[in-house]
Amino acid sequence: MNRRAFMERTGGAIGATIAAGAAPFVLTTRAAEAERKLGFALVGLGSLSTNQIAPALQKTKYCRLAGIVSGTPEKRKKWAAQYNLPEKNIYTYETYDKIKDNPEIDVVYVVLPNAMHGEYTARAANAGKHVLCEKPMEVSAQKCQEMVDACKKNNRLLAIGYRCQFVPYHLEMMQISSEKQFGALKLIEASFGFKIGDPNQWRLKHALAGGGALMDVGIYALQGTRYVSGEEPVEITAFETKSDTQKFREVDETIFWTMKFPSGVMANCGTTYNANGMNRLYAGYETGWSLLEPAYSYGGLQGKTSKGPMDFPQVDHFASEMDDFAQCILQNKKSKVAGEEGLRDVRITTAIYDSIKQGGKTIKLS
Ligand code: NAD
Repeated sequence: MNRRAFMERTGGAIGATIAAGAAPFVLTTRAAEAERKLGFALVGLGSLSTNQIAPALQKTKYCRLAGIVSGTPEKRKKWAAQYNLPEKNIYTYETYDKIKDNPEIDVVYVVLPNAMHGEYTARAANAGKHVLCEKPMEVSAQKCQEMVDACKKNNRLLAIGYRCQFVPYHLEMMQISSEKQFGALKLIEASFGFKIGDPNQWRLKHALAGGGALMDVGIYALQGTRYVSGEEPVEITAFETKSDTQKFREVDETIFWTMKFPSGVMANCGTTYNANGMNRLYAGYETGWSLLEPAYSYGGLQGKTSKGPMDFPQVDHFASEMDDFAQCILQNKKSKVAGEEGLRDVRITTAIYDSIKQGGKTIKLS
């Protein structure tokens, strides 16, 4: 290839750099990659995609909304117009696998009911796409493992939508612990719950949700205990109560559970679908404490420690999470919220349900 053809093919920039004897080729291509926005396709255009993820994509630095997958013709039409999406980037659940032929889509973001995450993650990975999948990862540890395996087999990255891990208030909670700013960690209290509405929604159907409040929001509290302590629980004891046995006939309504960690740290956790205002992450140390409340909402987080209030910018959780995943892809490094993280949480939720089934028996985890 002569110099002119090379310049034309590379858009000039790389050729000019080499001709000038400047930065090596590899660095320049990396810089160009870093400038490129990765194309995201959203699968499932429900409440989260509509109200949080699509608006967040407009605020990201390294991502863009490139495509959609939906079973509803009206939604496909509305989204195409609203986000100026070309027809060739719009899929149904039936045409989904054809996404493999679309170079404009780098990442598939799975935002479907929990029990559909496995299938749609595997299909995306088999189509050669990286996958960001909403929490909870799936409804059983085996399904989670299959997702990890599918992405590994296709050499694709997998991350779970644990948005809190990209928020300054939560990062501060982790840092206080890891730096032992108040000495050794002793206790954690973590809880998240809300009063759920529509009795006919998929969240109350076991086959689609895999569980109730615990799988949906209790998992934030569980995650919190793990990233604040930096440890994995070794003992779990759980109890459940149901005040509305009709509405919650298929899934859990309210669960409280305790966990012991190897260092002796104890966590007391709760979750519910039947009361508002439970939204807290507290850590108690030898010489002080730290607290987020509200801890897990999309915005308006507040934090304080025994020394005074925390004061951090409110960031868009989803934009930060997606930009982080884009950076992982561009730099070919594993996400800190990789599939294995989601799998660990689902193993623990399974142990919580096991303890409840056995009348509050303590379950040991290895
Ligand atoms: P939703 O009910 O609003 O949307 C679900 C979407 O899936 C809809 O577009 C629906 O049409 C589609 N769908 C396809 N097949 C379906 C089926 N068989 N039954 C029901 N819906 C079907 O739900 P959502 O609130 O958008 O939640 C989607 C996922 O996102 C869940 O896994 C949930 O746990 C997760 N989520 C995460 C957060 C977070 O803060 N990270 C917040 C809310 C939801």
